Amino acid sequence: MSRIPVVGGGGIDPSNMGLTLFHEHLRITTEVIRWNWPHLYNEDEELRSAINAVNAAKRFGVKTIIDLTVAGIGRDVKFDEKVARATGINIIMGTGFYTYTEIPFYFRNRGLESLVNAFVHDITVGIQGTNTKAAFVKAVIDSPGLTRDVEMAIRAAARAHVKTGVPIITHSFAGNKSSLELIRIFKEEGVDLSRTVIGHVGDSDDILFIEQILREGVFVGLDRFGLDLYLPLEKRVRTTIELIRRGWVDQILLSHDYCPTIDWYPPEVIRNTVPSWSMTLIFEEVIPRLRSEGVTQEQINKILVDNPRRLFSSRP
Ligand SMILES: [Zn+2]
Repeated sequence: MSRIPVVGGGGIDPSNMGLTLFHEHLRITTEVIRWNWPHLYNEDEELRSAINAVNAAKRFGVKTIIDLTVAGIGRDVKFDEKVARATGINIIMGTGFYTYTEIPFYFRNRGLESLVNAFVHDITVGIQGTNTKAAFVKAVIDSPGLTRDVEMAIRAAARAHVKTGVPIITHSFAGNKSSLELIRIFKEEGVDLSRTVIGHVGDSDDILFIEQILREGVFVGLDRFGLDLYLPLEKRVRTTIELIRRGWVDQILLSHDYCPTIDWYPPEVIRNTVPSWSMTLIFEEVIPRLRSEGVTQEQINKILVDNPRRLFSSRP
């Protein structure tokens, strides 16, 4: 079985991932703002927040955290290295380009293959000049749907997967069924759908639509527990229980999409809007609710241990 690269170089066997949060962030920051106005940022405070969040998850037995921060939202391998060193947890990083609309002229004017090559470089050589390799590729689609550039970034992610065998983890928008566009493009590009995650599906509680996605053989991300502004916790819990009851336990992944720092809003707005959002809410609130409704510990282990391992286990 091939090893999964982790932050700091080297790798782990998929069987050693253990309890895994498959979609979190250590820090989201806007590159163009940070580059030009560094005085607006406090790196020490950001580092403290990230270390505190990861240590809190670690106290619940989490062994591996997958950081979905890619280009466009401030991926910074040096920052993740500091968190990995301070906490001793496995941190897995990826490649991809995060955009809802456009990609930079650099790639747009050079074409699709230039973006594929950049992703493959991260996977085979390392991220940002380090020997930390990308372990997955991310694809993103949101409310504007499939713009020309968004399609280019999704196809580039698909081709990087086909070339290297790394899994694809996605961001989709529940409001416009954009997940179906992801699946359509993945099929056109010859992607192994069993090694993809359609992310943020749990922002909807439309069970029939979620089942339509699941029937494609993908994993679905119920991955924003605590982001009550998109869907309240109780509805997320009910959706999770219903999908397990209907037999989809092998294709569900849980996470928070938590960001200890995100510069998109002033910090107090985030504290007031999503006060319970954290990297531990699943352990504090969700699992006890699932257990009280008859979900077994074995099923919970499947979702939090076995499914991430299977996502990252390449087949011969
Ligand atoms: Zn995310």
